[in-house]
Amino acid sequence: MTTTIFDKSCRACPRLAEFLDTVGERYPDYYCKPVPPFGDKEAQFVIVGLAPGMHGANRTGRPFTGDHAGILLYQMLYKFGFSSQRDSLAADDDLRLTNCRITNAVKCLPPDNKPVGAEINTCNAFLANELMSLPQASVVLALGGIAHRAIIKALALRQADYKFGHAALYELGQIRLLDSYHCSRYNTNTGRLTTEMFEAIFARARELLDQ
Ligand code: SF4
Repeated sequence: MTTTIFDKSCRACPRLAEFLDTVGERYPDYYCKPVPPFGDKEAQFVIVGLAPGMHGANRTGRPFTGDHAGILLYQMLYKFGFSSQRDSLAADDDLRLTNCRITNAVKCLPPDNKPVGAEINTCNAFLANELMSLPQASVVLALGGIAHRAIIKALALRQADYKFGHAALYELGQIRLLDSYHCSRYNTNTGRLTTEMFEAIFARARELLDQ
């Protein structure tokens, strides 16, 4: 079993590996590989998204960078003192995260933004290793139900005991798991996740980390 948290050459999910090859032919300038976690290696605050977006992380090689989904997220990180810049524009823009890292439950771009269960399960080994390596009193922020369930699985806990809910907080040993609706374009455009709601999540995370 792997103990690494990321492998740039991983092709363990055949459907995703083939899809990345196809997308890479169509968009030769795009990154089109597994997208690595981004940020502070010693971070106590880890944000877990679903998977790279076609024209965002899959293009730039940095999670939540280059498309709509990351705009509000990076604004919050800056507002609450985790980021050196308000906007994440490209992998080489010198943005630095402090005590914070962003990762994805699935590291490769899935067709239609929908990984299948087997892909989530296969990539879960990387997430499990990443969560196991967290320092004491860490806060893990799950963006959306799929990320939440991937975290519960990675920690070998029973899904029925830990349901996803916006602003739900679970004490899981040395990890505090905080849930939020995903900051996708759909959720922010429809008002399912407002700026105020997302800001309250980050205020809570900051409060937990400062306790
Ligand atoms: S999704 Fe994860 S496990 Fe699957 S090919 Fe990509 S990096 Fe490997």
